[in-house]
Amino acid sequence: MQQTLGEYLRHGQIPFLRLPLADFTRGDAVYDGASAVFIGVTYDGGTTYQPGARFAPYHVRRASASVELGRLSDEAPALKRALDGGNVPLPLLHAEGMRAAVEAEVTRIVSSGAAPFVVGGDHSVTLPVLRAVARKHGPIALVHVDAHSDMAEGGMLGEERHHGTTMRHALTEGLIARGQLHQIGIRHSGDPDLIREHASNEYRIDDVEDRGIAAILAEVRERVGQHPVYLTFDIDAVDPAFAPGTGTPVPGGLTSREALRLVRSLAGCRLVGMDVVEVLPSLDHAEVTSLLAAQLLLEAVALLP
Ligand code: MN
Ligand code: MN
Repeated sequence: MQQTLGEYLRHGQIPFLRLPLADFTRGDAVYDGASAVFIGVTYDGGTTYQPGARFAPYHVRRASASVELGRLSDEAPALKRALDGGNVPLPLLHAEGMRAAVEAEVTRIVSSGAAPFVVGGDHSVTLPVLRAVARKHGPIALVHVDAHSDMAEGGMLGEERHHGTTMRHALTEGLIARGQLHQIGIRHSGDPDLIREHASNEYRIDDVEDRGIAAILAEVRERVGQHPVYLTFDIDAVDPAFAPGTGTPVPGGLTSREALRLVRSLAGCRLVGMDVVEVLPSLDHAEVTSLLAAQLLLEAVALLP
């Protein structure tokens, strides 16, 4: 349950959305009984351009303290049993070690029956999250909101799993059910061979403009059916005018209103987790990007049963 403003100010801690902090003295039972567990992944070693997303969990936590649950406190039962699980302890300069640490922590969350809500970090942190989620639920439907398709190959940059490669690996590792990658807001189109081979669905930003978010999400919901759905939200899908705090901004993106509508439009789907990645606080202005990230997380956790 969200703490009152008075409680939040009294104890000086800064959990996501003023949620209770996980009680780590409970050992392996730390997440038992939780509906959702929020964790931060302070890693940006997969960044190919401007780094700094490792600081996002701290800033999103602080911005999220001002987000009132409002109507959601009554409508969203999951919010009463959501926790902040802190940041994943990880080796900051070791990609493989980061992936192992994140996969282990998310495995702990899903094993407790809770849904992971992950705040990156750059988009390379999503791959180990998906590995853990798919091991629990089987191949998932992935709703991927991004300016970029993230289907690059890593070779030239010396890291096979940098933040622009996550969807390629998720597809080739079999983490996504066939035909169940749904990419929305794309400005940099993906690999046509990979798209064809896995029958993935790309909704470019022009499609969003022509058809509208509501119509596109109605189609996505129909295609998703009863598959378990994971939502990965790269904040650079949103126009830099609304989300300037990101490392690889691309003009001509979603409005913040469309982004929130998109998340709400997943109502009725079987949501099993979410992440928000690529928030870069040092390029943010007036906390608008962190605040949007917090609001997107809240809208998604409210979709849980
Ligand atoms: Mn991305
Ligand atoms: Mn991106």
